[in-house]
Amino acid sequence: MATIVGRARNEPPLVVVSAMGDTTDDLVAALGAAARGEETEARRGLERIERRTLSEVGKFFGADADRIGALVAPDFVELTRMSGAVAVLRSVPAAGRDQFLALGERISATVLAEALRARGLAAERVDAREVMATDAHFGRAKPDLAQIARRAEERLAPLAARGTIAVTEGFVGRAPGGETTTLGRGGSDYSAALLGAALDASAVEIWTDVDGMMTADPRVVAAARVLPAISFEEASELAYFGARVLHPLTLSPAIERGIPVRIRNSRAPDLPGTEVRAAAPSGSSGARSIAFKKGIATVDVATTRMLMESGFLRTLFEVFARHETSVDMVSTSEVSVSVTVDDSSRLEQIRRDLEDLAQVEIAEGRAIVCLVGQDLKFTPGIAARIFRAVDHINILMISQGASRRNVSFVVEEKDVEEAVRGLHAEFFE
Ligand code: ASP
Ligand code: MG
Repeated sequence: MATIVGRARNEPPLVVVSAMGDTTDDLVAALGAAARGEETEARRGLERIERRTLSEVGKFFGADADRIGALVAPDFVELTRMSGAVAVLRSVPAAGRDQFLALGERISATVLAEALRARGLAAERVDAREVMATDAHFGRAKPDLAQIARRAEERLAPLAARGTIAVTEGFVGRAPGGETTTLGRGGSDYSAALLGAALDASAVEIWTDVDGMMTADPRVVAAARVLPAISFEEASELAYFGARVLHPLTLSPAIERGIPVRIRNSRAPDLPGTEVRAAAPSGSSGARSIAFKKGIATVDVATTRMLMESGFLRTLFEVFARHETSVDMVSTSEVSVSVTVDDSSRLEQIRRDLEDLAQVEIAEGRAIVCLVGQDLKFTPGIAARIFRAVDHINILMISQGASRRNVSFVVEEKDVEEAVRGLHAEFFE
């Protein structure tokens, strides 16, 4: 990280860090143990995080490691004290949980600011709570954009003007009453986009551990390649299919202001990565990427009562809503409706309720394949090419999203890899 930040020196960056490795998951686990009264287990978990942190510190700082260790030691003391208190109370107050989890990011911000200074860079650690104003919705706090813009102008802009690199925590904010809040899991990207927007940055870079967004999953398609650019809408359509890279909605504060967001690989910093932008990059075939999702169930509902009747669909969707199951794809005919769900846990209750209305057929072990591209709707002949590419595979359901940036179809799980490879060959090879 120090090397990457150092390379951006002609324009002093604001650096937004997340917690190191699995730290947040491990903090969540330690807090869970404490809440069950398992204080020793919680303490062991915290000690593991501390050992891991200090071992990284040791590798980077060498002789100076003890000094850095002393800087983060109070944070570990606070974690241990909080987990002790939780173990006594056997419950975690919402505000306490955020205060606890925020320490993962605090520790990495402290360490990184020191690492930059050790490399001879002018760096200052800024407590995110001075800037990131939020409401008091702990665990998923909502940022106050106007306040953040004002405070960023006061606190961060002068540092950049002086050529100083500001280092701050992602994920962390502060409620109007002064309590520490968090923006929700994975919230560091959101912090970066919010601060980039507040400062009207020239770009936001998300440094992660993949080369970028791809034309398809490289574990399925050997010829898959990294996309130099993708539109925000395209990235959003793909998000449902497993946002392994990032959740695009977290980028929206930057995208809305026309600030490009680049996804870069910290292990291969010379690769250009993928740029997510507001406007669609032009693509030769109209298709940008192919995604798929397994573990899908289809629910087919057929009834002649639907014929000429209004309100049937509402009744149908109310059944899914009542069982808190979200419906993803829908296709209808005059006497039948098919939907897909990816959460099968309440399918039996759903079936019982639906059988009061119609004949019901449920099938599990299916998969959705989805072709996304901003220009699909302008490209004649796309549907023919899609279905020619998979003409030997049994297609169980078809849907073209209302945005017409997306054509999706359902196949049996056993056919999904072949369908994806067929489409990739047709559109990208
Ligand atoms: N450390 C937080 C999490 O794991 C935030 C982030 O990584 O973006 O959820
Ligand atoms: Mg993380």
